[in-house]
Amino acid sequence: MAGPGRRRPRVVCVGSLNHDIAVWVPRRLGPDETLIGTRLAEFRGGKGANQIVAAARAGADAAMVGAVGADGRGEGLVAGLGADGVDHRYVVRLEGVPTGVAIPIVTADGDVSVIVIPGANAALTPAMVEAAASVITGSDVLLLQGEVPADAAARAAHLARDAGVRVVVNPAPVNEVAEAVVPLADVVIVNRDEAARIGSVPAERLVTTLGADGVDVAGTRVPAFRVPVVDPTGAGDAFCGAMAVALAEGRDLAEAARVGAAAGACAVQVAGAEPSMPHRAAIDALLAG
Ligand code: ADP
Repeated sequence: MAGPGRRRPRVVCVGSLNHDIAVWVPRRLGPDETLIGTRLAEFRGGKGANQIVAAARAGADAAMVGAVGADGRGEGLVAGLGADGVDHRYVVRLEGVPTGVAIPIVTADGDVSVIVIPGANAALTPAMVEAAASVITGSDVLLLQGEVPADAAARAAHLARDAGVRVVVNPAPVNEVAEAVVPLADVVIVNRDEAARIGSVPAERLVTTLGADGVDVAGTRVPAFRVPVVDPTGAGDAFCGAMAVALAEGRDLAEAARVGAAAGACAVQVAGAEPSMPHRAAIDALLAG
């Protein structure tokens, strides 16, 4: 997509890295109940890590800023970023704090409840973000979500804004981080649930993903691509990562949302979150129809 001689788009994420331990159970647990599960699987996760992997696979020079514990799970997450070509020099390893873990509990009727133990993600500080200032200010787009402390996310947003770097915020979950960084965002990406909870955002900055109904971009509908659905997990992260790359390439909001929609449509065709983040060739094939 980037023409000859053009440098690659640069995207940086200040966000979460989690070790996901997904368990499948026949039904929801009752009080005091021991339930026999049917399956367990472990994945690289965290909205921050998923979205920056999506950006790297979509063609960006990608960098991650975050925190893991000085443990095997943290090593595994950092190695995974490296395998996707993500610059992880500013992922700090913290002694005495565990790597973040998320435990999605999937019931037979498709309900997914998630327990998150934030661990090192909750220990990310503005000073750790400051240490990564050169990579943040040297990027085209900064991606933020709601899974690291508000003061660290806000520091990143201020560094980016002062350097003319576009700030893209996915306020997921909607919490005090959203309050701190949504006012600093150039683009806010929400899904239907988040749209219902977020405060007011100027319409020209708001992108609302609507699952199989596509995307609302500043009041205009971008249709979804029609694809067979295997597992919707990860569609939103794929969308955010790929849209950030398209914005970094200089596309306008509607064009960038179309690239995001193609990435989301690729993601729903593959099980899991991180494994379903698509490569640029797959996105481009869908865009070309
Ligand atoms: P989230 O995963 O955050 O809930 P969505 O479900 O809205 O986010 O999905 C993000 C984007 O991915 C959608 O706007 C759409 O473009 C694409 N997408 C999601 N589900 C489908 C689907 N069933 N078919 C085609 N595209 C989809």
